[in-house]
Formats: sequence, structure tokens, C-alpha cells
Amino acid sequence: MDGNMLEELNPYQTALQQLDHVAEILNLKSGIHEMLKLPKRELTVNFPVYMDDDSIKMFTGYRVQHNLSRGPAKGGIRYSLDTSLDEVRALAMWMTWKCALARLPYGGAKGGVICDPKILSRRELENLTRRYTTEISIIIGPDCDIPAPDVHTDPQIMAWMMDTYSMHIGHSVPGVVTGKPISIGGSEGRLEATGRGCAIAIGEAMEHLNIGVPDDITVAIQGSGNVGGVLATLLHETGYKVTAISDSKGGIYNPHGLDIPAVLEHKRESGMIAEFPGGESITNAELLELDCTVLAPAALQAQITTDNASRIKAKVIAEAANGPLTSAADRILSDKGVFIIPDILANSGGVIASYFEWVQDLQSFFWSEAEVNQRLEKMIVRNFEEVFSTARDHKSDMRTAAYILAVDRVAEATLVRGVYP
Ligand code: NAD
Repeated sequence: MDGNMLEELNPYQTALQQLDHVAEILNLKSGIHEMLKLPKRELTVNFPVYMDDDSIKMFTGYRVQHNLSRGPAKGGIRYSLDTSLDEVRALAMWMTWKCALARLPYGGAKGGVICDPKILSRRELENLTRRYTTEISIIIGPDCDIPAPDVHTDPQIMAWMMDTYSMHIGHSVPGVVTGKPISIGGSEGRLEATGRGCAIAIGEAMEHLNIGVPDDITVAIQGSGNVGGVLATLLHETGYKVTAISDSKGGIYNPHGLDIPAVLEHKRESGMIAEFPGGESITNAELLELDCTVLAPAALQAQITTDNASRIKAKVIAEAANGPLTSAADRILSDKGVFIIPDILANSGGVIASYFEWVQDLQSFFWSEAEVNQRLEKMIVRNFEEVFSTARDHKSDMRTAAYILAVDRVAEATLVRGVYP
């Protein structure tokens, strides 16, 4: 891979380029711009874990807090062999913008541990989670930094994190993490909230762009995990034709629409999406280039780059994943007139429901699933409309509009608080 592509694929470079672009439009003072470029706090932890064979293995993890001007830090934790400090920095910065765009009283953070969770036993995963939580416990807490699930972390891992933190404090602290099981203070609707929010944002886009009725709308979804799986299910239930879906091993395609519940059942039974009998097997690269109304990359970052951007045929891209387009690919597609619902809007349902969970935990007063879903829908619709009208006023694309709103709110909070001392 050449140096240009390496730089294009570095998510922190993408995040910085996005910030630079909007800083110019907002005419941000250079001091504030410099403050927003750098994370406030970065913690790297190297820690030992007892493995099942009694050996001790060292792991490296991170927790980065980007900006805390608007409230405590909020952001997920991912377990992946590919995670790096630059990736976590970018994801933390995106969380700052995402929370500001949704008007949540939070700053942005993200965490990660370099590991392959698929080869760890349940006991090893628990040991790793408890030790990582202990290592980062010096900067997390319900008033300062509240982790949540992300790629390859789930409610069980959040339960271990909550329990570990609570053991240190001496009493239960449910508000220290969100995305917990409901039995220990999790929220109804949280598990589905990211996919649900994305489905609502896609519905808004279809309405604002006057694109047909659901029956005529074809959707290709890369990834079928927490976000992609729920998104596919909800769009299918609404009547959209989900023509393609995948997992890390590949995908399937049926131009007449897939039977999504059957596809997901097949995945549960066989462990993979490819080879589902009701569709034709395709690669993840082929899925991205399908002729469809909506493409929803719901897996990893940097999936659409200068290498494949010119071959993308979708009219609308809903960034269900964080950072699935590089900046260069974003420019190519925006110039082609593709309507892109940026990640900080498209996948904000997760952090919005996490905020609901945290509020419920702090008040020890819990809401019904219908209440959670109603409030979520109201917020996504409001946020979509704010971004859409800002894009119209500034004659800009949706990402630039979302960044104008978000960066302006964070800059204002940073400025009004002033520089201490
Ligand atoms: P997940 O681990 O549940 O699912 C990830 C999916 O991506 C799986 O289907 C996996 O098979 C697939 N995948 C992995 N590697 C792939 C590859 N190389 N090519 C194609 N597919 C691949 O994770 P998730 O929670 O669904 O998160 C997906 C994305 O959404 C991530 O970018 C995450 O940061 C973002 N996101 C998640 C949430 C949330 O609440 N879970 C919230 C906001 C954003």
C-alpha cells in the first residue's frame, strides 16, 4: 500500500480533515481549532491477563477523551486486533461531534483493546474486561466518562465493567456504563437503538428527497451485527427491499429482496450469511458497488476509498458504521451528487438511547420501550431536519452541515467556559 493510501485510511487523518474543512467555514479562531484537533486525555494501558492454560498474556488498551466542554465523556469500547491509538482518537472526536449534534450533554470518548475476542474463552474475555476496566477506572465514572458497547463488545461485557467498577467503589454504580443488560439497569430499546435510529434517518431522507415508496426502494447493507442486523430487520418490516447483506466472510444478493428474518436465522444456525439459499453469494467489495437506492455500510471504517468510490452506484449512503468513507471518497461521491447521511447523524441512535439509559440510572426510574422509541424517533427526526435545513442554507452536503452545527456548539461551550487558569 502506498503512503497516500495509508494516510487516506488513517481514521484520525480523516477526522482532522473533516474538522479543518468546517473550521474554515465557521471561521474558527485558530486557538479553538487547535484545541479541538487534540484529544484532552489519552490513556494507554498495558496489562496482564491469566489465560486458561495458566499462562500470563499482556494486552494493550486505550481510553481517549476528546473534549469535555459540554459534559462527561461518552463513547464505546471496541475489542479488535486492528484497533490503534489513532483509530481510538478519531472515534473519540466523532463522539464529541455526535453528542453535540444530538444536543446530548456529553463530550466524546472512545476505548479499545487490541485483541481477537473470537479466540478468547468466556473466562479469558471476562478477565481481560475486568482488568482493562480496573486500569481505566482512574478516568471513567458516571460523572466523568461513561463507556458503552462497540465492535465486539456487548451487554455482558458492559455488565462485567459495571460490576468491576462497582466492586472498587463498594456499591452498585449502574450509571458508569450504558448498553448493560436490563436486569442491572440497562434500558429497554438500547440494543436496537442504533439500527432503529439509522432506519428513521433513512426514512427521513427518502421523504425529504421524494424518493418513491418503500416497495421501490432497494437497500444494500454491509455488516449484520448489532447495527446492520437491526437495520435490515426494521427496513424489511417497513417494506423496503433489502437486496444485499453481509458479514465479515461475505454476503448475499437477491435483486427481488431478501427474506431478512430467514437470512439472520441462517446466520445464527450456520455462523455465516454467505451460502444462504435465497440469494447469490457476493463479496463485501461487490456489495458496496451494487445498483441500489440506499447503501448502508454498517461494519467498519474506511470501506469506501478512492479505490472504489467512483464505482458506487447508490443514490443515498447511510453511514451506519463510524467513518465508513474516507475524506477523499466522500468528496468523489458528494461531487457525483450522492446524498450522504453522515455517521454522526445516521448512527446517533445508539448514543441517544445510551443517554436515556444513563438518565434512567441516575434517577433510578425506568421507562417503557415505547417511551424510549418515541423519544428516540423525535430526536432523530429533529436532528435530521436541523442538518437538512443547515445544508440547504449553506448550500452544502449533509456532513458539512452536521459538522457546522456540532463543531459550532462544542466551540461555543469551550469558549464560554474559557481557558483555565
Ligand atoms: P458488531 O460487532 O455487532 O457487527 C459488526 C458486523 O460487521 C458483523 O456483521 C461483522 O461480521 C461485520 N464485519 C466485520 N469485519 C468485516 C469486514 N472486514 N467486512 C465486512 N463486514 C465485516 O458491531 P456493531 O455494533 O454492529 O457496529 C458496527 C459499526 O457501527 C461500527 O463501525 C461501530 O463503531 C458502529 N456503531 C455501533 C453502535 C452500537 O450501538 N453498536 C453505535 C454507533 C456506531
